[in-house]
Amino acid sequence: MKIMPNRMDRSFFQYQEELEKKAIEVLRSGWYILGEEVSKFEEEFAAYTGGKYCVGLASGLDALWIAFRLLGIGKGDEVIVQGNTYIASVMGITMNGATPVFVEPDEYYGIDAQRIEEKITDKTKAILVVHLYGIPCQMDRIVALCKKYRLRLVEDCAQSHGACFDGKMTGTFGDVGCFSFYPSKNLGAFGDAGAVVVQDEVLAKEFKIYRNYGSEKRYHNKVVGANSRLDELQAGLLRVRLQYLDKMNEEKVQIADRYTKGLKNPKIQLPKVRKDATCVWHQYVIRCEERERLIQFLEEKGIGTIIHYPIPPHLSEAYEYLGHKAGFLPITESLADIVLSIPMYNGMTEEEQDYIIEAINKFE
Ligand SMILES: *Cc1c(COP(=O)(O)O)cnc(C)c1O
Repeated sequence: MKIMPNRMDRSFFQYQEELEKKAIEVLRSGWYILGEEVSKFEEEFAAYTGGKYCVGLASGLDALWIAFRLLGIGKGDEVIVQGNTYIASVMGITMNGATPVFVEPDEYYGIDAQRIEEKITDKTKAILVVHLYGIPCQMDRIVALCKKYRLRLVEDCAQSHGACFDGKMTGTFGDVGCFSFYPSKNLGAFGDAGAVVVQDEVLAKEFKIYRNYGSEKRYHNKVVGANSRLDELQAGLLRVRLQYLDKMNEEKVQIADRYTKGLKNPKIQLPKVRKDATCVWHQYVIRCEERERLIQFLEEKGIGTIIHYPIPPHLSEAYEYLGHKAGFLPITESLADIVLSIPMYNGMTEEEQDYIIEAINKFE
């Protein structure tokens, strides 16, 4: 059997008819940028999260950097972020000239809330949490810290659409919830797309102005903004998928349960979800000290895997200028050496899953 790490065609075919109908509808409408599909998606996605306002943007990275820009965070400011994340989280900070201050993760792959306080200085302006792999961070403690030190709270929800902590949806705990709808995300578009969820009306309006060259009224530019518009086609397709997001997430929960029940190998550690949290399993990330051998072993059986992520941002070439050396974040760095994402996608068959479970259990 041949199993790829992801199969985005499967989830397309699950809702093919409705998606194709919507695509044709938008194509024939003659209106392609900032129209009814975008504003309806914004309303529907805000309502889905339980947040007040949503503003559609061109990507998850844009959601992050524009968030820090509009919160007034820049040169000379520090933002606390976990070391083990996709590099986009960190770029959202540094594109504004601010400095990322890295914190080690806890056993659930999220920022370790117990290690945040020791990193807070006079320059700290915000905490950026990343609900990595769809597992929510420890939001009760983090929200309390933000209140205590009067810090802004930004959430990177690129992997956590629909995930909750204590019954409240990720993206609604702080000032800005940043979402990506990159095709492989839990809510995926058919190209690049993103959005923010915010609770403040003024801030929501600022995002709308910023994404459109800083203009509210055409050719009347208030600020130097960006071109970061969500387009009508993506918004329309996202509206179709949003109706099924809970169902698609539930399907991933079933797949994760099947892995968790079936995988029994002393050489493999399974992911855990903190109490009080519901996870949407963007990835199912196992740990193995002999990872390279495991990858090879699975490859020979036709099973593809991916490492999320092999190089932590602080050790990437892009961030050499920050001056961090190997050994600076031992937990983050050791995770980068042992984590492995096994196939996890909507439309995966039980037969495929059982084949993977059997293969991993045979690894010795
Ligand atoms: C995908 C992702 C992003 C960036 O989203 P894009 O839409 O690709 O710009 C940011 N943070 C995390 C954690 C991601 O997984």
